[in-house]
Amino acid sequence: MFAGEARVPAVLARPRTAAEVSGVVRAARDAGLPLTVRSGGHSYTRASLLDGGVVLDLRLMDGVRIDQEARTGHAEGGASAGAYTAAAGEHGLATGFGDTGTVGIAGLTLGGGIGFLSRRDGLTLDNLVGAEVVLADGEIVETGPDQEPDLFWALRGGGAGTGVVTRLDLRLTETPGVVGGILAWRPEPEVLSDVVAAIAAAPDELSGMVNAMVAPPAPFLPGELHGKPVIMALVCWSGAPEAADDALAPLRAHAPVVDLVAAKTYPAMFEGGGPDVAGVRAAIATGFTDVPDREAAAAMIDAVGAASGPAVVNLRVMGGAIGRVGADETAFAHRGHAVMTSVAGMTPDPEQEAAVRAWVSDAASRFGVDDGPAYVNFLGGDAPEDLARAHPGATGERLRAVRAKYGAIGAPA
Ligand SMILES: Cc1cc2nc3c(=O)[nH]c(=O)nc-3n(C[C@H](O)[C@H](O)[C@H](O)COP(=O)(O)OP(=O)(O)OC[C@H]3O[C@@H](n4cnc5c(N)ncnc54)[C@H](O)[C@@H]3O)c2cc1C
Repeated sequence: MFAGEARVPAVLARPRTAAEVSGVVRAARDAGLPLTVRSGGHSYTRASLLDGGVVLDLRLMDGVRIDQEARTGHAEGGASAGAYTAAAGEHGLATGFGDTGTVGIAGLTLGGGIGFLSRRDGLTLDNLVGAEVVLADGEIVETGPDQEPDLFWALRGGGAGTGVVTRLDLRLTETPGVVGGILAWRPEPEVLSDVVAAIAAAPDELSGMVNAMVAPPAPFLPGELHGKPVIMALVCWSGAPEAADDALAPLRAHAPVVDLVAAKTYPAMFEGGGPDVAGVRAAIATGFTDVPDREAAAAMIDAVGAASGPAVVNLRVMGGAIGRVGADETAFAHRGHAVMTSVAGMTPDPEQEAAVRAWVSDAASRFGVDDGPAYVNFLGGDAPEDLARAHPGATGERLRAVRAKYGAIGAPA
């Protein structure tokens, strides 16, 4: 996973059951040791690692059970999005997670979960229908809309810090196939602006994100674009197959240089596994914006062009089912925004880390994502002022009240 300053836990616990999790939680409390939980290990702030305390590593609890009749998937607290998606896909069913199979379902769902099905089905947390949680005192409780509703509210968007989730129950939706994949264009501002606007205006069955980024040396991209700014979208149409072409026509109207969008099974959207970020130093900043106009789009492309290494401005189109949930119904308070905008830079070279951070910080302030509301799972820092951006106002107050009632455990997010 991501590199950074060394963090050396005193104890690494690898439980197999909720009862064992409870035992570890009680033992850590009795020993006065801080504890953090590790599931998929993808935290940008490396919140699932700590110095001198207990890392409760749930990766042996990676079971997934698909209840086809009840349209519900049950994932243990250490299961990955990819394993669940493959198991559900065997029945033509899906729960929407993010874009990367190796991400842990628990970490993703606790914060939100935005990906290929979000405009159709909502965020992952909107599909959480129940959970088993080990509380800070070691008690094991069931939660859902009618059981411990305050706890259930906090688990949906509150991020880490309110119990150890040992099982998640998730709604499944029939998804026999999708039409999806990558589209790429030369770095024209109007293309970036129009493509984001087109996804926002499309039926809910089209979800997608659009990147202004430094083109990686990928074989599917023309060699002349490698290392240069490019616009790359990852789209997924999950409606009737015969309606896909109409939905995608406004994107294809801009003459993509790469069009890998094709009919496939939903699990095939995760092929390739996602980036290998082992040993990589990353910086990220996030917030919410409007659909970029041409001027903003030009500034994004210019910023990427000025980066000294891998860099991306990532625009995730919100709307659809995400926007139809009330801001107070869950602990994810950011329902009405058009676009979740993040800027990220990466380097394997520790000596380049400061330059990457400076680029991210400059781009974030230029695009208005350095302060204001933010998605907890893409935050680049975990200082109180960062976390307050994720859970502003009444959401933050209610989250603090829930933690006061049930006890706080794990690094808060
Ligand atoms: C390559 C990459 C791609 C990504 N793509 C997307 C995407 O498309 N959409 C999206 O929404 N997000 C995405 N994310 C962000 C991702 O949702 C967050 O990083 C998420 O927190 C990762 O969860 P994890 O379980 O893998 O990580 P971890 O580091 O294991 O955990 C993250 C946080 O959750 C806590 N936690 C983990 N498991 C539990 C549990 N069972 N009970 C209680 N607390 C727990 C940890 O203590 C930590 O604070 C991506 C991240 C990366 C690195």
